[in-house]
Amino acid sequence: MNKTSSVHRSFSVIAVVIIFITLSAVPAHAALTKIVEGVYSYVDEKSPSPANSFGANAGIVVGKDGIVVIDTLISAKEAQRFIKDIRLVSDKPIRYVIDTHDHLDHVLGNCEFAKQGATIVAQSETKAAIVKNGDGLLGRAKYFGLTDEAMAGTTVVMPSLTFSDSMEIDLGDRKVRVMLAGPSHTGGSSIVYIPESKVLFAGDVLFTNYHPNMRDGDIQGWVRSLDRIAAMDVASIVPGHGPLSTKKDIDDMKVYLLAFDAKAKELAAKSDSADAIAAEIKKAIPSRTYFDMFIASNVKGLYLKK
Ligand SMILES: [Zn+2]
Repeated sequence: MNKTSSVHRSFSVIAVVIIFITLSAVPAHAALTKIVEGVYSYVDEKSPSPANSFGANAGIVVGKDGIVVIDTLISAKEAQRFIKDIRLVSDKPIRYVIDTHDHLDHVLGNCEFAKQGATIVAQSETKAAIVKNGDGLLGRAKYFGLTDEAMAGTTVVMPSLTFSDSMEIDLGDRKVRVMLAGPSHTGGSSIVYIPESKVLFAGDVLFTNYHPNMRDGDIQGWVRSLDRIAAMDVASIVPGHGPLSTKKDIDDMKVYLLAFDAKAKELAAKSDSADAIAAEIKKAIPSRTYFDMFIASNVKGLYLKK
């Protein structure tokens, strides 16, 4: 080997290393994780921010006849990223989207999936809430600091197929069952169960390691919904936010909600300052991601609305 080719080779090695370092420095989104055969999801976003849907999880079930999508993230851009990732694992048609509830980080990507020809499914109360908020959902995105650029191309697309208690989608070799969870995180919050593999998408009925947004919540109903999930034949659970979970996380969520509720009630009886109550609650319960963002607004929404 002559000296020139060895120098060239060193240069190309250096160039490859530089490109690799540059690529690693770009904040990448986690890829879709394979949960079991035919079921994939985003889980455990490590750097949640408004622009990446507050780390909301969203997933797919792939069957012989097509794909069911569970939740669509916060914007057209986020949904485009999701569709790109879906195409890395399957080229089947996207038949249905299920909106687990009406919050912006779960439904504002509907617009991109409608373009793919998907039928958008939601529990009737969830649809009613999306209709009621309408373009107000885009206003909320702005309120949370999402830029016009981040929201470019995003429109509010309503679900076109609703159910009241439950419905089943048959993908030929795999069934997907969507069920009303009962008043919990929201009035129409739904969970999605794949009986074949005992995987459950809990939507925001389960937050793992994240402090829940409770503003539209019903704590007693929420505890009942968690009890119902705990009684189901479930092997793994995709939470609305956080890592792939198990029934242990369902128990932890229940304990966390009840601890928050007891402390908030006790303090709200003596004070009408959300910030002062939040400061006391923070000392009493373990911290989770988005603790600071939601704790005072939860107090205002649930305990001081008179
Ligand atoms: Zn939510």
